[in-house]
Amino acid sequence: MVSRVIPVDPFDLVIFGGTGDLARRKILPGLFRRYCAGQIEGDVRITGAARTEMDSEGYREMVAEAIAEADPQAARQSEHLAAFLDMLGYVVVDATGEAGWAELARLSRPDRIRAYYFSVAPSLFGPLAERLHQHGLTDGAARIVVEKPFGRDLASAQELNAVLAKHFHENQIYRIDHYLGKETVQNLMAIRFGNMLFEPLWNSQYVDHIQITVAEVVGVGTRGDYYDRAGAMRDMMQNHLMQLLCLIAMEPPAKFNPDAVRDEKLKVIRALDPVGPDDVVRGQYQGARNRPGYRNQVGNRDSTTESFVALRARISNWRWAGTPFYLRTGKRLKERASEIAVVFKDAPHSIFGEEAGRHRNILTIKLQPNEGIELGVTIKEPGPGGMRLIDVPLDMTFAEALGPEEADFPDAYERLIMDVIRGNQTLFMRGDEVEEAWAWTDAVIAGWEARGDDPLPYDTGSSGPDDALMLMHRDGRRWREIKA
Ligand code: NAP
Repeated sequence: MVSRVIPVDPFDLVIFGGTGDLARRKILPGLFRRYCAGQIEGDVRITGAARTEMDSEGYREMVAEAIAEADPQAARQSEHLAAFLDMLGYVVVDATGEAGWAELARLSRPDRIRAYYFSVAPSLFGPLAERLHQHGLTDGAARIVVEKPFGRDLASAQELNAVLAKHFHENQIYRIDHYLGKETVQNLMAIRFGNMLFEPLWNSQYVDHIQITVAEVVGVGTRGDYYDRAGAMRDMMQNHLMQLLCLIAMEPPAKFNPDAVRDEKLKVIRALDPVGPDDVVRGQYQGARNRPGYRNQVGNRDSTTESFVALRARISNWRWAGTPFYLRTGKRLKERASEIAVVFKDAPHSIFGEEAGRHRNILTIKLQPNEGIELGVTIKEPGPGGMRLIDVPLDMTFAEALGPEEADFPDAYERLIMDVIRGNQTLFMRGDEVEEAWAWTDAVIAGWEARGDDPLPYDTGSSGPDDALMLMHRDGRRWREIKA
């Protein structure tokens, strides 16, 4: 099986923040891999833009180093690398001043797809949109890509949306949530809506509950300043976990087109019940041998910001009434593992008697580290020992099912940037979706702020605070083990 790579039309891309961490680690190496794959060809121009004084030659050197660091194997393709670097240029630009704008306007080719990637702090989104407008660069051929965090609450997200809407139509704005660019996340839609097998069972009559886990091993690292103002709820739950929840729970859209999909996701968020005090557990990691605890790492001894949050969500609609969704995410947990588990109900009657035990089908969608899908089915234990039942996985780890080459998926950023050029917004968040997700998040945060309770401590390398386990135990359920 050989997958077809269809080249995108030639384009001009300006990366504001082209010298920053995200550009160096993800955007530019990702573009290079798409070039090597043959998806980028022809007269393409990629321009880095930031305040640091540098010429285009210096920028090309910086990018070559960044690619070598991010993807040493790809960087060895020296022929490709030289040709890719030829597409690059650099302009010294200040988002808040006049420097560089005339040059950017001069370089702009009106007959081109033009993408402007805002890989800068959100406080610069407004000034960038304003300057692009002043220099006549916001016409229909232009599109902008904005990074997370998209606001820190409903009010700031509304403000950002309003700032962007002054100069761009919604169909020109690509709000990135890189989780949506993951192969498995899109596969979730293929599995649900491309097979007859699952959709008839995809409701509260057959599904006992759903668990979504995004567990990290790392702590806050160098992002302490930002993280301490955000916390797990704002940094992960409001966007990544909420998006996964929407894709799992939404109704089948009539068509696989951006607004049809996003309309259905929006309905899920709107149908979420308020989360009560007993539905949320927050935690903060403690130090371990040679590893500082959260408060030390962020340099704030009194911090009450959570590095872990687990909650029980309910969706009040016909499909899901009665099926809880348990969501958890945190740092410094035992393994790096992200998955969605759809846990089906017990068979209504066991013909095998008590001793056969209780068995359930679980569909697990693994997002990292090894993307794939696994269906737990119950079979007879082999051998002459009578009718004893065991659970075995029908494993569809993509690398095994498709072969390693086919399973060498583009990174989420690669896919999303190509979607920007193709003008496909399906995997990007619409403004109303983001606002609705913030409205729900704000209410959860207001709930714990009103109670004034601190996050519970948990050990580095654990599964989070014990109370998070109790959140499910009280319902007679248990979390799946966090396992890569
Ligand atoms: P960063 O390393 O601090 O880079 C910021 C970039 O913005 C630099 O290139 C900087 O270059 C440029 N810049 C700052 N002020 C400017 C101005 N007035 N005019 C023009 N350029 C200016 O930040 P980052 O980690 O790359 O993050 C960029 C954005 O992506 C942020 O919104 C962040 O939240 C988001 N994000 C990052 C990651 C990640 O893994 N890094 C992940 C998800 C989201 P000069 O100083 O040379 O101007």
